[in-house]
Amino acid sequence: MDIKDLQRENIKTLRPYSTARDEFKGQASVFLDANENSFGSPLPANYNRYPDPLQLDLKEAISKIKGVPIENTFLGNGSDEAIDLLFRAFCNPGKDNVIILPPTYGMYEVSANINDVEVRKVNLLPNFQLDLEKIAETIDANTKIIFICSPNNPTGNSLNRTDIETILANFKGLVVIDEAYINFAKQKTFIQELTEYVNLVVLQTFSKAWGLAALRLGMAFSSRPVIDILNKVKPPYNINQATQDLALAALENIQQVNEWIKITVAERERLSAELAKIPMVKKVYPSDANFILAEIANAVDVYNKLVDHGVIVRDRSKVTLCEGCLRITIGTASENDQLIDLLRAMN
Ligand SMILES: *Cc1c(COP(=O)(O)O)cnc(C)c1O
Repeated sequence: MDIKDLQRENIKTLRPYSTARDEFKGQASVFLDANENSFGSPLPANYNRYPDPLQLDLKEAISKIKGVPIENTFLGNGSDEAIDLLFRAFCNPGKDNVIILPPTYGMYEVSANINDVEVRKVNLLPNFQLDLEKIAETIDANTKIIFICSPNNPTGNSLNRTDIETILANFKGLVVIDEAYINFAKQKTFIQELTEYVNLVVLQTFSKAWGLAALRLGMAFSSRPVIDILNKVKPPYNINQATQDLALAALENIQQVNEWIKITVAERERLSAELAKIPMVKKVYPSDANFILAEIANAVDVYNKLVDHGVIVRDRSKVTLCEGCLRITIGTASENDQLIDLLRAMN
């Protein structure tokens, strides 16, 4: 498979924007090439210079933790930017299609719709695993991307590794594995498989375990040709300087993040066990993520009563295969206790 042939024709021939920093990369003392404000910023810190378009310092630090070379790493303004760029680089509007596997993360479909790309849906099986047979039947010559979310949002489970490998080995387009919740999972990341499959794209994010949702920073790891295409299409300065600086500082504090992951996983198991004891909770699905999907009698009423007490969960009761379910993010121990107390009092 040649990745270069997967991209849109207009992207293949695109001449990307060349920034001032692309055109002069050396050391100098006077920069009069980018129409910046040479005096500084009206802030304690200076943000008057455009940031590094390729975020090399930040990628170096990420590479040390993830073990993925810089040239196989793309950073986006959230993973959502990487998702959108994959559509814009690889999918011809009105012609190509992608496959999504509901119930799953909503942005794949929204991004497809924005880009006028057909979405083909193959529901997960009742056990929330992949329906390989239907997926194979749904693929055609214009299928460019299959989006696999593992651990899956909103169901919380990891998808069987061998099933994902079957798709990776047989599908002639991009396989995007969204690992937004991988830090909470028993399953291993697919990052190790990057050298095996040129068509594999692994998405991870700083928005969940890393506690940096407000900074908007997502990672896409893939083969060199895919990363080169994403870099060609992205807005030149897609990661702002404040985000680059703060993410670098956060990476120094990985122990704190690892400790929170341990606590979150322990709280997830405790909350699951407590929920299962409450009579109106009909089913608690096992979770590999930082949330739990639970089927609850009169889910919408329960949702509204929780809102009345200032506790907000996610109503997923109308979602395919999640009928009657609420999605509950794991909070601090005291937040989880408040939720349990409220639910117990409703019985
Ligand atoms: C939260 C989430 C993301 C994160 O998106 P960002 O744009 O990086 O904040 C990505 N994928 C899934 C499945 C998610 O649930």
